[in-house]
Amino acid sequence: MIIFNSAQQLKIYLDNVKDQHYIVGFVPTMGALHRGHISLINAAKIQSDIVVCSIFVNPTQFNDLNDLQNYPRTFEADCKLLETAHCDILFIPEVSELYTFEELELKKEKIEDKSWTEGKTVDFGSLVEVMEGAHRPGHFNGVAQVVSKFFRIVEPNKAFFGQKDFQQLAVIRKMVKQLNMPIEIFACPIIRESNGLAMSSRNERLSAEERNLASIISKTLFEVKELQTTKTIVELKSFAEDQLKAEPKIELEYFEISDADSLQPITDYNQAATAVACVALKLGNVRLIDNIVLY
Ligand code: AMP
Repeated sequence: MIIFNSAQQLKIYLDNVKDQHYIVGFVPTMGALHRGHISLINAAKIQSDIVVCSIFVNPTQFNDLNDLQNYPRTFEADCKLLETAHCDILFIPEVSELYTFEELELKKEKIEDKSWTEGKTVDFGSLVEVMEGAHRPGHFNGVAQVVSKFFRIVEPNKAFFGQKDFQQLAVIRKMVKQLNMPIEIFACPIIRESNGLAMSSRNERLSAEERNLASIISKTLFEVKELQTTKTIVELKSFAEDQLKAEPKIELEYFEISDADSLQPITDYNQAATAVACVALKLGNVRLIDNIVLY
């Protein structure tokens, strides 16, 4: 695996690769890698000739400084996992490699902005007014900003994202479409721990007891999927909310059942061709998200 810190050096290397008509697959991450991330590398290996993974804890997508500072950083272990998965290239830039001082300052001032501008504006519309967008102001602006920077540097043919971040996937798809980027976006299934907990870098910050407790999240989602044959959408939502709120250590942020395309909440099965149940909550001081496609 070749490691690059410099965007320019990576670009020079990849230009040469593309001259040979190799298909470049890209997997952006924030590091603290686990089997979920590696599943994306594996998918990229199958679909591409050269796999590029980036590790970058992106400051502009955090709206909580504590969360940014406490985000796990495990470079050595990450490298080993990527080597084992036969990743070809790791891009691990410094913040100053990707952002100007002004961009970082602008983020502080414009955290509430609904759209993101850098030459061109991406209008995410109502997609970012719900769920993660509503609870983490400015989050998706930061995500779109960094992913578009990576896309311009790597210029991949294909990019791989986890369905674990369901709304993020929708935002990326919209961005690629609106900016006419010639990149094919692939969605990869959620990889879970043996107790059902969706794998996440943040799980490292859970105590053993909290990890056990956290299995209630996926258990609730699986139950909701099963119960859809016998309950209305409104009943499903209150069933899930009651179950999660009954656990005193859980602070529920939201449980939504939404149209899987528009991500707008629905109250009836007829309102969406495909629907997804999404949940965000705090367990101790760790924020966790999960989801399940219902139909
Ligand atoms: P992150 O490092 O958390 O920004 O995640 C990088 C990529 O890995 C994103 O596309 C995530 O959706 C994906 N990812 C994270 N956790 C999982 C998981 N448990 N299963 C599948 N993909 C995941």
